[in-house]
Amino acid sequence: MRALSKQITQKWPEAFVRLSQRVLAPFGRETSSLLRLPLSGECQSGKIYLVGAGSGDSELLTLKAARLLMQADAVVYDRLVGDDVLALIPRCTERYYVGKERDHHSVPQCEIGALMVKLALAGKSVVRLKGGDPGVFGRMGEELMALADASLTAEIVPGITAASAAAACMGIPLTDRDHAQQLRFITAQFCCEGGAPDWSSLARKDETLVFYMGLSKVDAICHSLRQAGLPNDWPITLVANASKPDQQSLVGTLANMPEQLASHPLPSPCLIMVGSVVSMVAESPAASLAGIIETVGPV
Ligand code: SAH
Repeated sequence: MRALSKQITQKWPEAFVRLSQRVLAPFGRETSSLLRLPLSGECQSGKIYLVGAGSGDSELLTLKAARLLMQADAVVYDRLVGDDVLALIPRCTERYYVGKERDHHSVPQCEIGALMVKLALAGKSVVRLKGGDPGVFGRMGEELMALADASLTAEIVPGITAASAAAACMGIPLTDRDHAQQLRFITAQFCCEGGAPDWSSLARKDETLVFYMGLSKVDAICHSLRQAGLPNDWPITLVANASKPDQQSLVGTLANMPEQLASHPLPSPCLIMVGSVVSMVAESPAASLAGIIETVGPV
């Protein structure tokens, strides 16, 4: 199996050309320019690559991530990694799923660390594939510690985080100079009304807020931000499955979003963006209107 995998490594440029030809064939495009891309690079035995898989659309994968997926001996991946991305992994590559099971129990972080260490110590090149960017709410810190404890070498390959993908799909510049001078990524996991985070520090009109993992916290977020001083008609959008064909979104205000969501429940994963920039959706030529279920309010 290793020999086969080495063959793939050597054939990587050829494999990439085949992939690009497949992608571009329906458009009748010339692919020869892709041959000139600097796609050389080894995947080292005994090394772990912490790779961002992007937000779901396989075309949003970096070239480096695609190359490593085709070269690695083993891939350890999460729930948020899209099927199209997994389809790039050669059949002979070992695959380990460490995401949530149907009973919503995740594989404990220490077991994921131990698995990566075991594979690398066996001399395999390992890709640890994570949704979005591995360094954004991805528990990469714990994994790096496990690798450091075993004196293993690692490399981080960034990916397109959900905030970038969702903003792009909604046609929103996250830090448009007329709307926002700051941008904050917040985990909604600990959000509760009247409690954490420090809502008064978040209730600013010159900032864009992006909440990850917040689908079940929309009421608490809207209510707490209003309580902390943001107006009832302050713009908010919810974007589910950003960048995927089944993307859906709601656009509204802090006052009406809880009701909108109750009448149009969205699936997971879902991102919440709050801020004046959201008002740009209405006029944006880049907003993918197909996915917008409902816009309610003065945005
Ligand atoms: N490392 C990931 C985030 C992992 S936390 C990244 O950089 O994107 C998981 C949360 O990310 C989800 O609860 C959701 O809020 C958000 N998310 C991930 N992919 C998403 C997608 N395609 N559309 C909307 N939200 C997404």
